Amino acid sequence: MLTLLKNATLFAPEPMGLRHLLVADTRIAAILGPEDPLPTAWPGLATVDLGGRRVLPGLVDPLVHMTGGGGEGGFGTRTPELTLADAVGSGVTTLVGALGTDALTRTPASLLGKARELVAGGLTCLAYTGSYQLPAVTLTGSIGSDIVHIAEFIGVGEIAISDHRGSQPTVQELARLASEARTAGMIAGKSGIVFIHTGDAPGGLEILREVARTTALPLAQFLPTHINRTAQLFEDGLRFAREGGRIDVTTSTTPELLAAGEVPASEAMARALHARVDPTRLSMSSDANASLPHFDKDGRFLGLAPGRLASLFEALGECVNDHGIALERAVPLASTHAADALGLAAKGRLAVGQDADLVVLTETGWAIDQVWSLGRQIHRRPHETAGDSHHGH
Ligand code: ZN
Repeated sequence: MLTLLKNATLFAPEPMGLRHLLVADTRIAAILGPEDPLPTAWPGLATVDLGGRRVLPGLVDPLVHMTGGGGEGGFGTRTPELTLADAVGSGVTTLVGALGTDALTRTPASLLGKARELVAGGLTCLAYTGSYQLPAVTLTGSIGSDIVHIAEFIGVGEIAISDHRGSQPTVQELARLASEARTAGMIAGKSGIVFIHTGDAPGGLEILREVARTTALPLAQFLPTHINRTAQLFEDGLRFAREGGRIDVTTSTTPELLAAGEVPASEAMARALHARVDPTRLSMSSDANASLPHFDKDGRFLGLAPGRLASLFEALGECVNDHGIALERAVPLASTHAADALGLAAKGRLAVGQDADLVVLTETGWAIDQVWSLGRQIHRRPHETAGDSHHGH
């Protein structure tokens, strides 16, 4: 399968101007400049003219509760599964699935099945083994064995710290878990990342520092998320990133969370960049299909809303349009840095040999015109004016 994507204004994420991308099967085989001869006479070559539209790497979302996350208000409040229809138009082409608060009625086996459904639909879908609570639930009997033997499991998560819904892990428990994931990752050629759900208890990220202090584990073995959930946690997160850690912010939100002091994801990114935090330490995730519950001061459940996959692309737009972050600096926050943290070498950049995952923006405004995943167009904006693609010249 050979496709020539003509006239892309390429953000790789670095700006490369007008380019033509030759896609062979699932990968980018060549990136041609305006002066290079085009292989238009090749038999079987399909040509798509992107008309100078901006093209970005497909977004990489390091936290998607694709089986539904929780349901803290009883069975009537279980959050729904992510549908393929919602996924293909979101701009996210690489999703990493996790169980959430509920690892009792939702299991690693159902997570893996769901990941494979999305892969069958054309996306790249990976997952974390384990659960909020320790001891972690697994498919094959241990975290290490899951990471080594199951291709999709790239690490362990979301492990909850500083949260009333977690198992209140000790430093020793976390150290042991992280060592197991790290070693298994080395054996399998994966990151073995430990993805951390950070709650809003005053302890914040301290326990992760304690693990790094008392073991030879690097802080970057952990990827803590929800760092924008409170002002205090955000300040702690900036410190954590300066100490060599990575931090992830959540793009899904609710009016209740914002009213309770959550820092909007795009604002958090702008403030972190302004504070001169190393940008490669920063990423965003959607927390799609998670439950975003709110509780009163006595811990009574008041209500919840599900997270949305589309919020990642929306937050990227806010970074650019509301906070003035240049597109080439903003895109890595929703793609490249997560790919690097998760050890996904073929993702997060548009270059020869990389997976042909890309988002084509509309000519004006902030919207998605097309999504390509593994060399195939999986989404096209409806009601587009006819006649500007699928034809050669
Ligand atoms: Zn979480």
